[in-house]
Amino acid sequence: MRNPWPLDRPSRIDRAAERRESTDLAACDAIVVRDGRVLTADGRLVELAPDAQPPASLRIYLGRDGDRDLVALVPEDPGFGTDPDGIGGERLRGLRDLLAGFWDRGAQGERDHELASTAVAIANWHASHPRCALCGEPTVPTSGGWVRRCDRDEREHYPRTDPAIIVAITDPVDRLLIAHAAAWSPRRFSHLAGYVEPGETFEQAVHREVAEESSLTLSSVEYLGSQPWPFPASVMVAFRAVTEDTEALDLDMDEVSEARFVTREELAELVASGEVILAPKGSVARRMLEDWFGGVLPEPRPDATIDV
Ligand SMILES: [Zn+2]
Repeated sequence: MRNPWPLDRPSRIDRAAERRESTDLAACDAIVVRDGRVLTADGRLVELAPDAQPPASLRIYLGRDGDRDLVALVPEDPGFGTDPDGIGGERLRGLRDLLAGFWDRGAQGERDHELASTAVAIANWHASHPRCALCGEPTVPTSGGWVRRCDRDEREHYPRTDPAIIVAITDPVDRLLIAHAAAWSPRRFSHLAGYVEPGETFEQAVHREVAEESSLTLSSVEYLGSQPWPFPASVMVAFRAVTEDTEALDLDMDEVSEARFVTREELAELVASGEVILAPKGSVARRMLEDWFGGVLPEPRPDATIDV
């Protein structure tokens, strides 16, 4: 089985923060990002040379890839890259839909995942923070797109990332808790998760969220890894935990409407039959599932009803 946690390594792209101010962004190769989507062909990021780039409303310095500088480009035209028949099969696709394809492509996919996650995260920040939070004046991008500056009071505003915890909970016989959020489409199950609140440690957020959503208490909490999750602005911080008292399970129906403990055999059958739909390959939630499962989870059988 492929190690589900290849994340303990440096970035594949050198962010080269010292080059953000000095690099001519219009002279760099660009990946294209807009509204949480990136320009791809066959699941790979498309990189456009300067003479092939559309007019840009914003360029953000992403870093060095070998001896090249790369930027993320937000096109002026809101319709750019949305026609699937246009520009040689290249089109904008949502990052969530690209995760499984990135995962299948090894180191090159990890590189694309890094670039796409960074581009989507910081473009989302620019789109949602056009004004100074203190005086309300429009701000302007500087420092290669990594700062927005208010000319009125000279304050600098920096990109934000909101941490969220996600936790794989097992019982004393190593069954896994799978949960369905009330807001999700039917049959979709995953782990419990929630935002870290100001003043909390990640571990305290794990205990609090699990208690709020399920009334379970945890006897051990162990860090697994993390993954950027720019939907729109998070990083998922993954843990595994054990509960001794499964009888305490009592759901907060507003957030989590269904949850149960399953054995490996039960989960494999639920997935194969299409009764349960899990997070996509390449997501942190899927890594946590397969870490517990001890291998790659089966695909739904061909006759399984997976449309919802
Ligand atoms: Zn201001």
